[in-house]
Amino acid sequence: MATIPSRSSLRAWFQCSEPGCEDQHYPLNEVVFRCRRCGGLLEVQHDTTALAAASADDWKAALDGRLGHRAPGGSGVWAHHEWIAPGVAPENIVSFAEGGTALQAMGRFAVEVGVPRVWLKQCGVTHTGSFKDLGLTVLVSQVKQMLAEGVPIRAVACASTGDTSAALAAYAAAAGIPAVVFLPRGKISVPQLIQPIANGAKVLALDTDFDGCMEIVQEVTADGGLYLANSLNSLRIEGQKTVAFEIVRQLDWQVPDWIVIPGGNLGNVSALGRGLDLMLQLGLIDRLPRIAVAQSAMANPLYLSYLRDFTVFEPVEAQATAASAIRIGNPVSIKRAVRTLQATNGVVEQASEDELANAAAWADRSGFFIDPHTGVALAAMIKLVGKGLIGRDDRVVVVSTASGLKFPDWKVAYHLSQLEGVISRHANPPIELPATVAAAREALERVLC
Ligand SMILES: *Cc1c(COP(=O)(O)O)cnc(C)c1O
Repeated sequence: MATIPSRSSLRAWFQCSEPGCEDQHYPLNEVVFRCRRCGGLLEVQHDTTALAAASADDWKAALDGRLGHRAPGGSGVWAHHEWIAPGVAPENIVSFAEGGTALQAMGRFAVEVGVPRVWLKQCGVTHTGSFKDLGLTVLVSQVKQMLAEGVPIRAVACASTGDTSAALAAYAAAAGIPAVVFLPRGKISVPQLIQPIANGAKVLALDTDFDGCMEIVQEVTADGGLYLANSLNSLRIEGQKTVAFEIVRQLDWQVPDWIVIPGGNLGNVSALGRGLDLMLQLGLIDRLPRIAVAQSAMANPLYLSYLRDFTVFEPVEAQATAASAIRIGNPVSIKRAVRTLQATNGVVEQASEDELANAAAWADRSGFFIDPHTGVALAAMIKLVGKGLIGRDDRVVVVSTASGLKFPDWKVAYHLSQLEGVISRHANPPIELPATVAAAREALERVLC
């Protein structure tokens, strides 16, 4: 039986992520979102020396033993308890059995694209329908831990393009903690809007965009009492980084050649980088995959910076895109995303509305049901194959971030060829017929030729 260090022997803390300011540390149970000295983002740091007391093989054996329902509460996130938040006591874990999602071979679609070994990491097949569950289980559990320790917190709060608020509302409701969500009015899908409402969160719909909501929520959470749940809070990154662990474990502890991931606020790509980095430090892997961040052409500040070798970064005003969760012009995690891309020899690609819609519909023809954000990632992958950057023998993992079921209006409009600026190449509209056998026969002759 492999021996791994006990949770009580492990430590984790917030540490400033700015070069030169790393000596700024804060306990994880303190209400702090940015470095008090320089205002930089904080990162959760682990005592990797203590973690490395177990060998890579010991860790692999321990984690393999926690697969699926044998993980605490069936959670793929808390299967990695020691690596994310060792200070959270088991009784304070708030979980909906998130994570542990399929790494689905893309089969016919992958062959058609010309890269047979493409897998879809189905992070959207989860409790609230997006990968945001992975981060919010950690954040809300930490808040529950803090409340148990007597830290005064009135509510948890976030600005959201829809999915964060859905996940925050669900986990907070499960824990009995009040939640407040700030949403850009009229800019998110009905399924996304109704989730926090149903779970009892206080929903503030503001006449602005996501970036506007983000400014306001940072202002109102600055003076304590409200605990900020946006991804600048790196507790979320700790949960989201388990996607990297799962991908590698699902490939029998092998590293893929590429991981393609859609990016908006850029917390998720940073999380991927953190997860890979920890596995590298603990010797579970010996190299890094290349990472490709996919952005909507309507909200592409990282792409524009990439074109200039990241020497400059300028926020943009994000325009309307079907990929509404990445309609972000001033990403909070820009610096950590650039660090991740530089460490992994990464690239950035963008996709137009036409490209993302047709990529999603193309994959749907092989049985998938792709949301617009994952459509951005698939379109980017197709373009990178076209440019010869992704080779036909490469092993590629595309991170799917949400369930297509959250975006029914967009799916319907595509198949009715009603999306503006999109030529629906894979449209499959229903055939409307009079209710007669003759009409049905005639239609079948036509469509099954
Ligand atoms: C939040 C979200 C993203 C973007 O993640 P970032 O961390 O903001 O880059 C992508 N897709 C979906 C569906 C999301 O909800």
